[in-house]
Amino acid sequence: MAHLGMTKIPAGITWTPLKMTCGCVIDWGWDSNKVPPPVFIQWCISTVGTNCPWHGGETGQAVPRPDHETIALTNPADGVSFYARKATGDDIALGERLAEELRQLMDKVTNDKLAVIKEIPLKYRKWLYANGYDPLEAWLDQRLTDIVLNRGVGSVPPEILEMMD
Ligand SMILES: [Zn+2]
Repeated sequence: MAHLGMTKIPAGITWTPLKMTCGCVIDWGWDSNKVPPPVFIQWCISTVGTNCPWHGGETGQAVPRPDHETIALTNPADGVSFYARKATGDDIALGERLAEELRQLMDKVTNDKLAVIKEIPLKYRKWLYANGYDPLEAWLDQRLTDIVLNRGVGSVPPEILEMMD
């Protein structure tokens, strides 16, 4: 992400709040018509460990900008843009929770894969094995989708939930 600029926000942007290293809760936006979901998920995983754009992002050097601005970060290599604005209202608490869940999940995936596999309800784990899925990969996809794309709302289909005790 090289280019940082102000922009008029296009319609149809979806937002997910995340608490950043600097303590600010930022609403991150993306255009689901232009950006594949895994690209936004990867962006959230990498950005959650940095300062917000107002506090310099990865560099940590503060860039003075009005708080009410919405900032566009565009990767000049592929033209993919993400948007940042300060979260407000209930989204502040949500952003704190989502960032914590995301950090814990990625920490576990890096340091203790077995703990992640143990998180999977046993019947669902068996079902994944029986149907040829890699349980770790499937569960990770599910959790990342729930945290990043569904703003913390579980999206396991009812027929799967029925298999769980
Ligand atoms: Zn900040």
